[in-house]
This record gives sequence, structure tokens and C-alpha cells, in this order.
Amino acid sequence: MQLRSSDAIILDVFNLHDYDRIVTMLTRSHGKKKGVARGARRKYSRFAGQLQPLAKVSVTWLEKEQSELARVSSVELERSASGLQSDLEGILLGSYLADHMLEFAQENEPNDHLFRLLDSTLEALLADVDRGLAARYYEAWVLRIAGVFPAPSECPACGRGLEKREVGVAERGEGLVCRDCGSGSWRPLGRETVEFLMRIGDENLMMLQQRSPTNATLDEVEALCAEVRRSFLQRELKSYRVIRETLAGIQE
Ligand SMILES: [Zn+2]
Repeated sequence: MQLRSSDAIILDVFNLHDYDRIVTMLTRSHGKKKGVARGARRKYSRFAGQLQPLAKVSVTWLEKEQSELARVSSVELERSASGLQSDLEGILLGSYLADHMLEFAQENEPNDHLFRLLDSTLEALLADVDRGLAARYYEAWVLRIAGVFPAPSECPACGRGLEKREVGVAERGEGLVCRDCGSGSWRPLGRETVEFLMRIGDENLMMLQQRSPTNATLDEVEALCAEVRRSFLQRELKSYRVIRETLAGIQE
């Protein structure tokens, strides 16, 4: 058995039997990790109040070689995410952020880019950055870190820079190419959409917000990322479907 500790962000918590909880977290040092917090449902548990979704914590756990389930021994709250979860829209957004990590982060494989992305996005959201902007920034970056959707710097087909060229979606939503390289189903993207995908490489959320893209641009980024993500995962993220259905229900 090995005792380990790390910064972590809690992705998911569910009850196990009468007294325990299963926690899935994104740790900085060991990637995604699943562990059992024994007695966490008891009234005077040492975990009481610490196991909140998207909370940043300092966690210590015991690892057994043959078991994929670690034993969580202590959790110390570093930053609560309760400010994000005081309304329905915030709760939905929170589960959308966590869902990406459950899907794209690997167990026992540290990925500092993913950890910092989730950490900094939560930090910005708790400081009241625009939620729509944060969601678009986050989903585009997850796909970029996963190597599924690279930054639009040059056309992958002809190698020319995309900076001053008309850019659009190649066939089957696989990456962005220039107009000359697009086939029959090529469709152009708004200039500001391409610019947004370039800007997220250099600007953090606070900087982006100072010269925020229009809502039409954010909508186009969302649709594009959803298309790329679907084509990669071969299905839709469950939390994304829930968001679309819930918000459509509210607007009716
Ligand atoms: Zn080209």
C-alpha cells in the first residue's frame, strides 16, 4: 500500500451503501482517481462538508496495487465551488465542466494542462466571468489539449497560414481548412469565430472578456466544438444534452 497526496478537484461524488461515498477527482499528480471515502455519510464524519462537486481540495489517499479503487484518507477544502452552484444554470455548467474531465482525463496519468484549465476556469467563474464565454473557452481548450482540434494556425492540407485566409469546416467536421482546400461540403466560419480560436491560445478569460466576442460568435464556437467532440467521442456528452433540453424547456 502506498500513501499519496495531491491537489485535486472533485468531479463526481455518489453514495455507496449506507455510510460511504465514492469520489472521482482530477488530481494534479496522478490524473483521474477514484476512491472510497469510508464513513463519509455519517453525521460526524471527518469528510463532512469537504466532498463537494468541483471543490478544490488537498487530498491524501492509500493505493493498493491490485485495486483500481483508492482509499481516501483525508480531504482538506482549499476552494469551494458553491458560488457557482447556487442556481440551476450554474449547476448545469458545473456538471458540463466535470463531464469533460471524466471523459478526457486519464486515470493515473497526470496532465497539468487539463488540471490548470479546470482550475483556472473555475477560478474565473467564481470571480464572475461571463459563463457563456467561459464554457466556450473551456470546451475548445479541452479539445485542443486532447489533440482533437488544433489551433487554426495553418491549413493542414496546403500548409499555408490561415491568418489572412478564409477558413471553414472540412468535410465531416474534421478540422479547419482554407477555402482552396475545402471540398463540396466546405462551409465558411465567421472571421470572429476563427479569431476566437486563435485568441484563446494567448489570452486568459479575463482578457477575452475585455474584448468579448458577440453572442453569434459564441454560438458558432459552441456548435463547432460540439460537432468536433461528437465526431471524436461518437456520441454526445450527457451533461450537454441535459443543458440543451433543460434550457429549451425553460424558454418555452
Ligand atoms: Zn489549404
